[in-house]
Amino acid sequence: MIRAPATVPKNDLPSFAGRVSARVALAPYTWFRVGGEAEILYAPQDTDALAGALRIWAGPVLPIGVGSNLLVRDGGIEGLVVRLGRGFAGIAIEGETIRAGAAVPDAKLAQAAQRAGLAGLEFYRGVPGTVGGAVRMNAGCHGTETCDRLIEATVVLRDGTVQTLSNDALGFAYRHCDLPEDAILVEAVFRGTPDKPDAIANRMADLMTAREEAQPVREKTGGSTFRNPPGESAWKLIDNAGCRGLRFGGAQVSEKHCNFLINHGDATAADLETLGETVRERVMAASGHDLHWEIRRVGQA
Ligand SMILES: Cc1cc2nc3c(=O)[nH]c(=O)nc-3n(C[C@H](O)[C@H](O)[C@H](O)COP(=O)(O)OP(=O)(O)OC[C@H]3O[C@@H](n4cnc5c(N)ncnc54)[C@H](O)[C@@H]3O)c2cc1C
Repeated sequence: MIRAPATVPKNDLPSFAGRVSARVALAPYTWFRVGGEAEILYAPQDTDALAGALRIWAGPVLPIGVGSNLLVRDGGIEGLVVRLGRGFAGIAIEGETIRAGAAVPDAKLAQAAQRAGLAGLEFYRGVPGTVGGAVRMNAGCHGTETCDRLIEATVVLRDGTVQTLSNDALGFAYRHCDLPEDAILVEAVFRGTPDKPDAIANRMADLMTAREEAQPVREKTGGSTFRNPPGESAWKLIDNAGCRGLRFGGAQVSEKHCNFLINHGDATAADLETLGETVRERVMAASGHDLHWEIRRVGQA
C-alpha cells in the first residue's frame, strides 16, 4: 500500500521562500518511479531562502536530486524533502575551473566543459544525476570520480549555516563523502584541463556508446545497486550466484547488467528492496561476500 506519513495539513504549510507543497508523490521524481509521498516537498528559490527555511524548520530534512540513485520506500518520507530547482542551475566557466549549481544535470556540466575546451569531466556525460547528487555520492565511472575533479563545494547545513568546504574537508571515499545526510549541497567548483573541444567530444561519444551497450539506461532503474567489494565486481558475484534475470513482483535483476534492478512498470519499492535483499542472501551463500547497497533507500516501509 502506498501511503503518506502526512502530519501536515495542506492548508497549514510552512511559509518558506520558494515552492512548498504537502503530500507530494515522489515516484515521478525518481528513476525507479516507485515510492510514497513526501510530507512536504520544498523547492527553495535560492541559497538564502534555503538557509532561512532550515533555521525555522524543526523536523527531519532530506535533499534529493533527480532520484537516479534513490529507492523511496512505499510509506513515504517524513519531514521536509528539499529538491533544488532553477535557482541552483547556473554554470560559469572561470578560466580552467567550472562553477555549477547543485541542480545542474551532470550531462550539462560535461557538455559545458567540452564547449569551453576543458577536459576531465567527460565521465559525467552519462551519469544521469545532478551536481549535488554527484558530490554526495562521489559519482564516477570510466576511471574518474567526482573527487578527482572537485575543488570545493558549498553546503547549507541543517542549522542554516552556509559553508564552503575544500575537497579534503569533504572526506571522499568510494561512492561516499562525509557530509551529514541532511546537509544540502548548493554549488560546486571543478577543475578542468585545457584540451581541444573536438577531442573531448569524441571521447564523450565513445563513453556513451560503451554505456548504451553495457547498461539498461532506458529502463526504470537506480543504476548500480550494490557497491563493488574491494577487488571484486558486484555484477560478477550476482551473476555467479545465479541471479541474472531473477524476479520478484514487478521487479527484476537486469538481464543486461545484473547489478541493476529494474521496475517493469508495476513494481513497488518493497518489491525492489525484497529482490535486492534476496540477491544479497544468494551472493552470501554462493561466495561469502556481503554486498552493500549503493542505492540510497530512504523513507518508511
Ligand atoms: C542508468 C543509470 C546509470 C548510472 N550510472 C552511474 C555511474 O556511471 N556512476 C555513478 O557514480 N553513478 C551512476 N548512477 C547513479 C546516480 O546517477 C548517481 O549516484 C548520481 O550522482 C545521483 O544523483 P541524483 O541527483 O540523481 O541524486 P539522488 O538519486 O536524488 O540522491 C542520491 C543521494 O544524494 C543526495 N543528494 C542529492 N542531491 C543532493 C544535494 N543537493 N545536496 C546533498 N545531498 C544530495 C540524496 O540525499 C541521496 O543520498 C547511475 C544511475 C542510473 C539510473
